[in-house]
Amino acid sequence: MSAPFGRFFLPGPTEVLPEILAAQAKPMIGHRGPETERLLERVAAPLSAVFRTRQPVMIAAASATGFMEAAIRNGVRAKVLSLVGGAFAQRFADIATACGREVEILKVEQGRTVEAGQVRDRLKASGADAVTVCHSESATGALAPVAEIAEAVREVDDVLLLVDGVTSVAGSPVEVDAWGLDFVVSGSQKALALPPGLAFGVASPRMLERAKTLRGRGLYFDLAVYDEQIRKHQTPYTPAVSLLYALDAQLARIQQEGGIEARWARHDGMRRRVERWADEQGDALGVTFLPVEGRRSWTVSCLRLLREGQAGGALAKALAQRGYTIAPGYGKLKDTTFRIGHMGDHTVAELEVLLGQLTEVLRG
Ligand SMILES: *Cc1c(COP(=O)(O)O)cnc(C)c1O
Repeated sequence: MSAPFGRFFLPGPTEVLPEILAAQAKPMIGHRGPETERLLERVAAPLSAVFRTRQPVMIAAASATGFMEAAIRNGVRAKVLSLVGGAFAQRFADIATACGREVEILKVEQGRTVEAGQVRDRLKASGADAVTVCHSESATGALAPVAEIAEAVREVDDVLLLVDGVTSVAGSPVEVDAWGLDFVVSGSQKALALPPGLAFGVASPRMLERAKTLRGRGLYFDLAVYDEQIRKHQTPYTPAVSLLYALDAQLARIQQEGGIEARWARHDGMRRRVERWADEQGDALGVTFLPVEGRRSWTVSCLRLLREGQAGGALAKALAQRGYTIAPGYGKLKDTTFRIGHMGDHTVAELEVLLGQLTEVLRG
């Protein structure tokens, strides 16, 4: 039935190892009982280690967008400054608008990143009480300098930094505590390489303090409640129990690999491997990275197609005929770019094979 592992390179959902899939196939347990509590207790410390935080990691049965909405409802008083260089960053801004907040957009060309200096220039005058940023923009493959942006945000009093870490967490350095991030969102189906369905979030004490003062933060995504519950190893509503089994198994695997830093290093190796391929073959094949050097995601590589007659959609189709899955460009970049999601449990060796296939197809 299933193809061998190492052929599915979407920037989410990512390929899930058979042993992780199998871990889900266990009997149900009562979600208010001691077994679920023990399970949540067991995942607590290793999950906080993934996010590099002393805070508990909140878990919801939702896609990551759910906790992006939670970030807005619980973290923005009146106005947010949204840093936008791609479609997922724009989604954060759209959620804020949908939640009735005033939104100011600091926009850069797709594939670029907003730099800390630009935040410094704009933030104070904007009067925003929060900033949204997408760390690894899966639509463009760009990696925002979040640590530096956090420093710039800290210079203005009483402004929270809300981070979409959906494709950076577990695939490249995200230091929630050391960088002073106020809310970081991720999801199960990206670099954690679990099936879709879990949202993860870490809130700073400042974020939780503010949340408690905000009215209209809703019920399902009230972070004050999530925080209270997770500290008791419980969840406010029925957790996705089967996915928690998979999470438990995956956290054990991360430990076996040598911890989160080893996982980051493997992703760094994959990013570098695509960079070397683009350096060596890019001219001959008509491909080049969309983001500039030093601002490239460790989990998603987005490459521009330079030749007449090449298109992201057609390229993805040609790869599919060979049994490999990559993604065309996203939105307006659909045909001018393509994307390789090299995250989760993929290795450089598997990526190598994919790049060989890409080389053959692009050579025509
Ligand atoms: C996938 C993704 C999202 C959305 O996640 P869902 O789980 O589909 O809600 C948000 N931001 C980024 C950067 C993503 O890659």
